[in-house]
Amino acid sequence: MYMTNTKQIFDSSEFQKHFHCNVPLGAFRSPRHTEFRLWAPTAERARLRLYPAGDGGEPAEVHALRFAGRGLWIWETDRDLDGTYYDYEVTVEGVSRVTADPYARACGLNGERSMVIDLSRTDPPGWAFDGPPAPRPETVIYEIHTKDFSWDPASGVPEAYRGKFKALCLEDTTLDNDGEHPTCLNYLRRLGVTHVQLMPVYDYGSVDEAGAPDAFNWGYDPVNYNVPEGSYSTDPRRGEVRIRELKEAVQALHQNGFRVIMDVVYNHTYHLDSWLWRTAPWYYSRQEADGSPSNGSGCGNDAASERSMCAKYILDSVLYWAEEYHMDGFRFDLMGLLDVELMEHIRRELDERWGKGEKLLFGEPWSASGTAARPGTLLADKGGLAYLDLETGAFCDATRDAVKGSVEKAGKPGFVNGGGLDAKTLVNCVRGWVNGEGKFSVRAPSQTITYLSSHDDWTLWDKLVLTMDPDRDFDRLDPALLRANRLAAAICFTCQGRLFLLGGEEFARTKQGIRDSVRSPLAVNRLDWRRAWENRELADYYRGLIALRMQLPGLQDKSAAAGERIRCAPEPAKDCAALEVDNGEGRWRRLFLAYSAGEETVSLSLPEGEWELLADGESSFWWRDPPVCSGTVPLPPVSAAIFGQR
Ligand code: CA
Repeated sequence: MYMTNTKQIFDSSEFQKHFHCNVPLGAFRSPRHTEFRLWAPTAERARLRLYPAGDGGEPAEVHALRFAGRGLWIWETDRDLDGTYYDYEVTVEGVSRVTADPYARACGLNGERSMVIDLSRTDPPGWAFDGPPAPRPETVIYEIHTKDFSWDPASGVPEAYRGKFKALCLEDTTLDNDGEHPTCLNYLRRLGVTHVQLMPVYDYGSVDEAGAPDAFNWGYDPVNYNVPEGSYSTDPRRGEVRIRELKEAVQALHQNGFRVIMDVVYNHTYHLDSWLWRTAPWYYSRQEADGSPSNGSGCGNDAASERSMCAKYILDSVLYWAEEYHMDGFRFDLMGLLDVELMEHIRRELDERWGKGEKLLFGEPWSASGTAARPGTLLADKGGLAYLDLETGAFCDATRDAVKGSVEKAGKPGFVNGGGLDAKTLVNCVRGWVNGEGKFSVRAPSQTITYLSSHDDWTLWDKLVLTMDPDRDFDRLDPALLRANRLAAAICFTCQGRLFLLGGEEFARTKQGIRDSVRSPLAVNRLDWRRAWENRELADYYRGLIALRMQLPGLQDKSAAAGERIRCAPEPAKDCAALEVDNGEGRWRRLFLAYSAGEETVSLSLPEGEWELLADGESSFWWRDPPVCSGTVPLPPVSAAIFGQR
């Protein structure tokens, strides 16, 4: 039996009026003062328990917090409690629950106890001068998981640092330490991506921080939203270590030319019985009419982001990561479960502090299923995109599925793998689905995250194998599949919008056909640096496309009018499409883009004048010393060609 009255109470404007509490929450210290502030609006009693260690042992002190109005409970002392661990015992309707501080900024092992911290002592040398590298003409986001990025022994990363934040600080690693073939950051510098997206690095619950080193999970199961994950640190027992080591990683990424995007999962907590729940049962969770937890996340609970203190919690957390850890952007997991008002508030606050659009903000404009938000709540899903700021983006599943086929049905192909190329859809893809019809629609390409694969679903390579290779051999680098992969990449990198790729997509990353590797072992998930070297030709193809894209203002244009630069040319043949792009002030005034998914070489008529070949199905580096052509040229099967006219 669930209580249903909590839903009505917490959704009411009366509750918000009486209990919204706009003060900083958490534990704050100075040399002569420490103060604990907990928001527990329905509690009849709250006690603070202090410990010398982050796990084990009895409390050294217990203090009753005093109620200070508007749901706020306070305890203060004239001591500096830096380094002291703590938790709370909160009593609601006669039931006492032990909980860590939802606003904890440091914690002990497995995040079960919070810690008072002087954050200045977690700053690595030079942190005050740390900042993002200068913006590049285009955004190319590379998604990695802290553990699988450097777990492979061939990465050249010393064993003690494999799978840790520390590995993100190593600048010169090579394959098996051969001194020749770059891996990790060294490899990424060469590839030319601009942003590194870290899959969850906040403290999550599915990996025991005291357990086996090869325990693995993606980490979409938040426990402490404002603390880094301990299993990525060299010592999860000492609260300050994980903080310092994540800061060091961000600093190293900045110094190596990358901006850093953090994957944030505010839409649900690991268990309904979270720290948030224990301090204010049901307040932060949506409930169905019968009182049961709403489950639009598919993970057992949904954050009630439309309630003011839940919105404050999420906003405070985002601003904290941006401020304290210098994060340059945020990728919102299941953004479609959060509400537009909150996303707009976050956008505004980030813009006010760091400048318009300086911090990237984007997310998944969907959820696993329906959610029981307060009636009248406008969700930040595909329908909500029309109401979101032009600098708040969304993953474009329309291009993803058009190019390679369904993420649900293994055998269903897209343009490049036998499904045939539909010119009208392709034009929508290239325009980033601005005023798109059907599956996806935005107001400007600044809202579009163009991509082919992410950590979810089959890797691009596995999808190609599943649709093209009857033997389902995921390891063989089959030429026909490589051709399809190059065509897919060429389409992606000639679409307007910001660009995103799963780490390793560019070297035909395989998870052996496993669609959802969230619980798969590291053997499946780890980046295989030997494969990166074996398949360097494909990676080089991506590298050339990235470098070329940096020179194409016609495709970089993020304005609402960007689509006007693109004009359809006559279709060269069945399963082919061609477009002209006004490249404005670029090295080439005009671009001519041609794509063929057909099985025969077709004769391609270039528009009038002389054209330089910039990239085709064989090489994406022709632009360095471009051959000149005019009239008609052959367009080989399953390939793209990019021409420029000066
Ligand atoms: Ca953890």
